[in-house]
Amino acid sequence: MPLSNDVKLRRTKKPVFPDTCIACGQAHPGHSLEYSGRASSWVHLFLWWYPGSKHTVAVPACPPCASVLRRNRILRGLLSWAAIAVSVAVVIYFFPPKRGPLRKWIFLGSVVLGYLPMMAWSLFHPPPFDMTIDEDAVTYEFKDELYAHGFAAANNAEVE
Ligand SMILES: [Zn+2]
Repeated sequence: MPLSNDVKLRRTKKPVFPDTCIACGQAHPGHSLEYSGRASSWVHLFLWWYPGSKHTVAVPACPPCASVLRRNRILRGLLSWAAIAVSVAVVIYFFPPKRGPLRKWIFLGSVVLGYLPMMAWSLFHPPPFDMTIDEDAVTYEFKDELYAHGFAAANNAEVE
């Protein structure tokens, strides 16, 4: 099953990547792609506008792969937002917002509902690299198992 291979490191640790392209495996790509994300926690379900602290890493990727990865990342982002927008629109259409305490929950539920298919799809079609950032740890997610083991070895960690 093509689930991602995860390696969790402390956030303060600067990760060491194997010197091969994350996507095609070319040795010494001499180029990297910057990935950044923000810490998220359950708090963001309620305070989604509140920015978590930023975490940035440079992942080795040869120039052609870097541009494909960059484009796919933007596409994934757009698709998630589109799915959420459609879900919210459908819910509002069938449950016209009325005043009341339920309104907020219906809205929140429709956001989650819109996000679920994308999340499920991503779970079984992981991108070559992704990361999940918590307040004190970062989970580096690799599609390629060998790459994940190389990364884990370089950082004295283990593949989960
Ligand atoms: Zn490449």
